[in-house]
Amino acid sequence: MLLYGPMNQTMTLIAKNFVNLIYPLHCAACGVPLDAMDTGGLCLSCESRIKQNAKPFCIVCGRPVKEDEKLCAECEKQDLAFDRAWSACLYEGVLKEVIHLFKYGGKLALSGTLAGQMTGFVRDNPEIIDGIGLLTFVPMRKKGSRQRSFNQSEILASAIAKEFGIPVSQVLDKVIPTRRQNELSRDERLFNLMGAFRVKSGITLDAVKILLVDDVMTTGTTLSECAKVLKASAAAEVRCLTLARGL
Ligand SMILES: [Zn+2]
Ligand SMILES: [Zn+2]
Repeated sequence: MLLYGPMNQTMTLIAKNFVNLIYPLHCAACGVPLDAMDTGGLCLSCESRIKQNAKPFCIVCGRPVKEDEKLCAECEKQDLAFDRAWSACLYEGVLKEVIHLFKYGGKLALSGTLAGQMTGFVRDNPEIIDGIGLLTFVPMRKKGSRQRSFNQSEILASAIAKEFGIPVSQVLDKVIPTRRQNELSRDERLFNLMGAFRVKSGITLDAVKILLVDDVMTTGTTLSECAKVLKASAAAEVRCLTLARGL
């Protein structure tokens, strides 16, 4: 079969198999050997254990709700600055582990699998990108020498942009360092992020509808803070999409 494929595909396969002979690929989560075709970094069994976020969703924050509910109990009380948010999967089990490996373990091969979860979700929920003129992502603070050199949210946003042909660019800067949101209470989270983001100088967002991408959403405070800044710079609408939702 391979013999009939385009030459460059065949060469890529040969090259991958050769690399695999020297550096065998293993599933990042369970360690089973992967074959060279499996470039997502996860075996099929681990990938199948990633829990999808199931409809119906809260019409604001995207949390799964009961059949007859529109808003979740949190959104009845809170006021988030974005127009709507969705999350493709639930932040638990194997996905929690895999996101950690992707962010802090330098397992960039996982980006394909993780972005695939998001693009599949967008295909099932096309209203997420309907009318969107620009994709952007939650920025990281400019890197110090001991910090990560890549932004996982930028990688995910770029993959979605490519898949659906939407322009992507960094619009926000993170101008003050913050503590990790998951170490803080809700009130501390709000305070922690005050003034943390700003629109990069020279960027105009006149009436553009933006899709803001991040890896994990928990309370929505980070996305809300970013949306506030984008709207103050005249963005017409800010929708949010995350890979995972922590409940
Ligand atoms: Zn596995
Ligand atoms: Zn909600």
